[in-house]
Amino acid sequence: MLDRAAPQRLAFPSALSALSGVEVTLPDWARPHGVEGRLLVPREACAEPAQAQWTRVDWWLAAFLLLEGWHERAWERRHGPIHSYSFRLRDWDARVWQRAWVNRIALFLREWAARESGTDASTLFGPLPRAEISISHDVDAIDKTAAIRIKQSAFMVFNALRQLAQGRPGPASSQAARAVRFAFGRDDWSVPEQMLDLERDAGVRSQFNFYADDRAKDVTRWLFDPAYDIADSALRQRLSDLVQGGWQVGLHPSYDAWRSPELIRAQRERLQSFAPAAVTSCRQHWLRFSWQETWAAQSAAGLSQDTTLMFNDRPGLRNSAAVCWKPWHVREARPHSIVALPTMLMDSHVYDYRPMAPVERRAVLRYWIDEVIAVGGEAALLWHPHTLADDYGWADGYRELLATLAERPSEGVA
Ligand SMILES: [Zn+2]
Repeated sequence: MLDRAAPQRLAFPSALSALSGVEVTLPDWARPHGVEGRLLVPREACAEPAQAQWTRVDWWLAAFLLLEGWHERAWERRHGPIHSYSFRLRDWDARVWQRAWVNRIALFLREWAARESGTDASTLFGPLPRAEISISHDVDAIDKTAAIRIKQSAFMVFNALRQLAQGRPGPASSQAARAVRFAFGRDDWSVPEQMLDLERDAGVRSQFNFYADDRAKDVTRWLFDPAYDIADSALRQRLSDLVQGGWQVGLHPSYDAWRSPELIRAQRERLQSFAPAAVTSCRQHWLRFSWQETWAAQSAAGLSQDTTLMFNDRPGLRNSAAVCWKPWHVREARPHSIVALPTMLMDSHVYDYRPMAPVERRAVLRYWIDEVIAVGGEAALLWHPHTLADDYGWADGYRELLATLAERPSEGVA
């Protein structure tokens, strides 16, 4: 193995620059744990990055740097939080987000340890865990408010103009027509029974994350936060119906709460006062997130699980891992008390950010689900309930997602 010089060179955080990966070819006996027989590790974990040999890689350091988002944390120290926009990470090696590299490194080390002991991996460590893929829904809207009409139709107009600039007048005009329908049309946006029916049929019980802020809204919050009030009697009834039916209820903290224990706590307590089950899990609205602040704020607010870790502008595993873990709390030199579960994909990744044909959309869904199953990992998927309404018409995608999970026998859906 590598001499221990590499970690000492890593005086956190300024010594780390943009994340750059090195492909390492595995020995024949470990090939199945790689992708085409190779694993990707951060450059800092290789003794000789130019000709990386598997015996000259600090595998523990590689797994740690990826799992803990160490390069991103260093970036955040220098430039401030990117929240969840991958495009802000300049010169980043996007291959790190395409696979559960951390899980694959662990599987490789497991195999290696068994080989050194002259036995096989399941005898030494027990059988591999089954993959667990959970579905969650951030409830951003239950009515089509003026703010939503403005935001979404502006986004559609932007897409139409982009398509026009790319010389595609056909898709551009249908996108523009959708924008007009969206701005002026009437549609039912209540948390759709259709979604619950689909999940009942598939034997799935997901989690619904609700917004529970009750402060008067300034312009930013009017534009970015959900408009509903969780104290509304129909919503309170919905909460208790969900819990009785076996669904989970979590918190969707407001746009400005990502570093405020006080705001998150107040919102958690308000939701808790209406929810007939403990509120312990959350995902930040708009995936507003800081490595330094958000988990600390959520823990201090009494939450024990978070699924915010994902990018807004692309699917993927943001920390190269499909695993539930307690992230390292740098300021206090200990693990956080909160458990983080990465989310790998949401509806808008396969609809809004890049238009896709249905066949391509299915392939993307399959790709991510298969990656988690291949490594026996854990990850979440996000689908917004209001996108099942006709205005969006994304119900087909959600059906495909449930069907794809159902046709994969080895995974558990929670
Ligand atoms: Zn949201």
